[in-house]
Order: sequence, then C-alpha cells, then structure tokens
Amino acid sequence: MKTKQSVVCELSPLGEMPAYPSSAQANARAGERYVVARKILCAFLLLLISGNVHAALNVFACEPEWAALTQQLAGNQASIYTATGALQDPHRVEARPSLIAKARRAQLLVCTGAELEIGWLPVVLRESGNGAIQSGSSGNFEAAQYVTMLEVPARLDRAEGDVHASGNPHIQTDARNFLPVAEALSKRLIQLDPANTQLYQQQYATFSQQWRAAIAKWEKQAASLKDVPVIVQHKGFPYLSNWLGLKQVAELEPKPGLEPSAAYLAKVLNELQQHPARMVLRAAYQDGRPSEWIAQRAHIPAVMLPYTVGGTPQATDLFTLFDDTIQRLLAGLK
Ligand SMILES: [Zn+2]
Repeated sequence: MKTKQSVVCELSPLGEMPAYPSSAQANARAGERYVVARKILCAFLLLLISGNVHAALNVFACEPEWAALTQQLAGNQASIYTATGALQDPHRVEARPSLIAKARRAQLLVCTGAELEIGWLPVVLRESGNGAIQSGSSGNFEAAQYVTMLEVPARLDRAEGDVHASGNPHIQTDARNFLPVAEALSKRLIQLDPANTQLYQQQYATFSQQWRAAIAKWEKQAASLKDVPVIVQHKGFPYLSNWLGLKQVAELEPKPGLEPSAAYLAKVLNELQQHPARMVLRAAYQDGRPSEWIAQRAHIPAVMLPYTVGGTPQATDLFTLFDDTIQRLLAGLK
C-alpha cells in the first residue's frame, strides 16, 4: 500500500502533462488544472487506502455504559452504536428495524447480559442474521459474565416479576465492576482485531490505572453514606448499595418491573415508621411520581441518579457518571 501511495502521489504532473496547448499561458493553466486534478485523485486514493488499513470495528452496545467503556478501550478504532438511551428502560425496548439493521453490520455486540435484554435482544439477534454476534460467538460480549452477581434467586418464579435466573443485572452501579469487565472486553477487542493489539493494551492500561484512582476517590467521598438507610423505587441499586454500604429498607415496586398502586405506596409509607429511610432513590429513566409521593409524605429527599452515561447533564462519561452519582447521594444526606 505504501508503494501504491508513492506511485500515485509522487508522479511529476508536468512529466505527464498533455503536450498540445499552443501558447505558454494556456500551457501553464492546463498544467495547474492537471496538478489540482492529480491532487484530488491523490487525496481520494489516500483516503481509500487509509480507510482499508484503519477500518473501525463496528460495535453494537446495548446500553450507554458499555458504549462508553468500549470507547475508553478502543478509542478511534471502534464505531459504536448504542441501542438504548439513558432515559429509556433497558428492560423494555422495541426490536425496531433500525436496531436490526445496526446489529446486521456489527462485528462486536457489548451488552449487560444476565437477561436484562431478554425482552428484545434475542429478536434483534435472530432477525439480524449476523452469525458473528450470536450468543456464544466471539463477537458476543456479555459484561455480567465477568462480575460477581447479586440477588441470584434460589428458585426461579416469573410470577415474582422481572426476576432473572443469573441474578440482578444492574451491575453498572458499582464502579468496581468495570475493572474485570474492562479487562475481558479489552482481550475481546484484541481477539477480534489483533492488528491493533498494542493500542488496545495501552488504552486498557491507561483506563484501569485512572479507574482505580477514581474508585479510591469516590470511596473516600462516599464514606458518610455507609449504613445510610434508603428506599429504592426499582430493585436497580443492589450493586451500588453493596459498594457504598447503603442499607436498602424498602422498595416501591411491589414486584420488580411492576408499578406500585396508591395502596401499596401507603403500605410502604406506614412501614417507614418502623424502618425510617433517609432518601428514596430512582434511576433517571424511571417515572418520578412514586418516589415523589413517598418523599413528600415521609419528608425525605427523592434522589434521582443518572444510572448510566447520559442520565443527567453532568454524567457525560464513565468518570462523571460516578462523580455525579456520589454528589447526588451526598446532597440527599443534607
Ligand atoms: Zn431491573
């Protein structure tokens, strides 16, 4: 390719210039036009060549946090499509034709797994007809396989609501979980795109170093949150609670994924007299009304957390996602 480049771009334009223009002026003008044309052709060919060498890996990320992590680890080598937005319930997504089209072109799928996407991803995968990203293929990456799962049910009963056989899928609320996921994802990038091994190794080394330092900072900032009793709207925060030591005393959903009735909320409010809570937590994508209802009556703050990248204006990447989460929790203590 280097040779092709040299041949096209180092040819002397005058040497090949047509010889017929009669006057010296016309000759010069034709020469200029010829040089310009040659330059355009040259730039175009270079673009084609570099495009071939640096073809970005097409990544289909199910949730914004995995898109952000892939971006950290792959830099410019990945062209990332994110299937769900931060203000969208990741359990309930429509398998739209646009999602299927993106999955068809993907070389790597990066999702939570643990059945979080069970309501829509199997359809997208099947309809995509893309063998490279099917479950079990090297192009199918499930983050939940690399972390210790919480709330793994001893007995699986779908009548209990959104209960998942492999445990609670909301693993992204514990910053520590990103370390093993990043390590595995980096290895997967190398496996799929070995030509860029060095770059992926560097990106991972930088990320893991910065991430470890950030975790130490967040844990220090969050020290006063330890043993603070909280109510959660959905069972979306066991990993966050486990990490920072929050004590979850009640949930507003009677069953995971089921909207609470007024009667149910009144029951929770009544129980709060025995087990007072300092704040009620919900994810940015959730309807704020149940939280606000309880918050007003129990005289505690309703705290909305970004939950993923993009959930609040402050949570613009993985680092600010946790900066903002902790700031909002601390504000809830005041
Ligand atoms: Zn859930």
